[in-house]
Amino acid sequence: MKALDELTFDNRFARLGDAFSTHVLPEPLDEPRLVVASNAAMALLDLDPAVADTPVFAELFSGHKLWAEAEPRAMVYSGHQFGGYTPQLGDGRGLLLGEVYNEAGEHWDLHLKGAGMTPYSRMGDGRAVLRSSIREFLASEALHALGIPSSRALCVIGSSTPVWREKQERGAMVLRLAHSHIRFGHFEYFYYTKKPEQQAELAEHVLNLHYPECREQPEPYLAMFREIVERNAEMIAKWQAYGFCHGVMNTDNMSILGITFDFGPFAFLDDFDAHFICNHSDHEGRYSFSNQVPIGQWNLSALAQALTPFISVEALKEALGLYLPLYQAHYLDLMRRRLGLTTAEDDDQKLVEQLLKLMQNSGVDYTLFFRRLGDEPAAQAVARLRDDFVDLAGFDAWAELYTARVARDGDYSEAQRRERMHAVNPLYILRNYLAQNAIAAAESGDYSEVRRLHEVLSKPFEEQAGMEQYAQRPPDWGKHLEISCSS
Ligand code: AMP
Ligand code: MG
Repeated sequence: MKALDELTFDNRFARLGDAFSTHVLPEPLDEPRLVVASNAAMALLDLDPAVADTPVFAELFSGHKLWAEAEPRAMVYSGHQFGGYTPQLGDGRGLLLGEVYNEAGEHWDLHLKGAGMTPYSRMGDGRAVLRSSIREFLASEALHALGIPSSRALCVIGSSTPVWREKQERGAMVLRLAHSHIRFGHFEYFYYTKKPEQQAELAEHVLNLHYPECREQPEPYLAMFREIVERNAEMIAKWQAYGFCHGVMNTDNMSILGITFDFGPFAFLDDFDAHFICNHSDHEGRYSFSNQVPIGQWNLSALAQALTPFISVEALKEALGLYLPLYQAHYLDLMRRRLGLTTAEDDDQKLVEQLLKLMQNSGVDYTLFFRRLGDEPAAQAVARLRDDFVDLAGFDAWAELYTARVARDGDYSEAQRRERMHAVNPLYILRNYLAQNAIAAAESGDYSEVRRLHEVLSKPFEEQAGMEQYAQRPPDWGKHLEISCSS
């Protein structure tokens, strides 16, 4: 276990130089205080969890102090936002403080979000509010606990600094961890600004540091792009299987590592709704829940365009063609597991689709349905769940197919079925209303609810004593919360 001053830095991105990022010092927040820290994320840096409660911890992650070896940089990138190209974006309020190596030899970017103005702030103030920082913290750690690749969050530091959004709020910073903060938009920036040398340098950097195994392939860049396609297909399959709606799938918010990244008005589905739009400024539903699948491919094509200097168009097209079949295979595999099936049959896809249609029509809670389905043997479980459906004849027909399918699947004990299903069907997810409750308390200075919710969500598959209130459908007020996009 390390103390805070024992972290080892190796700032490889900063060494790429001024064409890629700009040196900017963080602008401190007033009266910094620890809101919440993730012990699991602390462990990634070999940090003793006890250091989170020391004053220096809050000072380091609110811009008051810096390690001597840190090299804070604002990265430049661009990207397609809601389908249109924005030529100049970048870290407008976040800074890459440096890259830290842990004892296992992994490196982690320390990225401080809400750290003040940079050359890329455009019209913004460089700040992040407590509300959005808590949401990013909770979501990244909750996704990770569900087994969905995501950037991680070390802590949220609150402050008394006023920040103006629709109303006056308080500034906060979230310390984000990822193996890299390079986005699709980094490649687009150097492609569209016609800087082939930097574009090549960036591609070498990503290949060497993040896809070294692709070096062995006859066409390393193509192998890397294929791997990115595969990782995105898998990540988005997991979003769809667990009901995660990202909300702002612009290419500047897409990680080159295929991890969930840059959290805004995201949501987990309560009732199943394929058309759910979590971002209230997304009037056309470009990033609706079901559209995430084709948008994943759209984003990969935007990246492919930026990679045309290195890879032939034919090869890029072929690699892009892998996305949908891979997505479908991962998705179906996960959904089979959520249904408790261990074998594959041709009609399984239909079984899933029929169920989702019934859930959609009756507004059935997406998370609790699967959890309860695993509580008992299939016949008993469907008999109990039947009450949640309006179209009873439809559900009965599905239930008959399902119980027959389960019977064909294999002969296993009730305990085996429950254990297997509970291991893939969470009891606790980050419902918007739960986040909202925690935020309301935190805004009045009580951080206990954020901390408790984070704890509960760090073991989403394990039933936790006394935590029943986190495993309920939302109350009426919590069903259709408008989550502000300003953050
Ligand atoms: P986002 O929609 O949060 O992914 O941000 C899109 C772009 O706007 C990025 O370049 C951000 O750095 C920038 N941005 C967002 N909010 C702010 C802010 N409050 N101040 C400065 N830049 C911001
Ligand atoms: Mg962003």
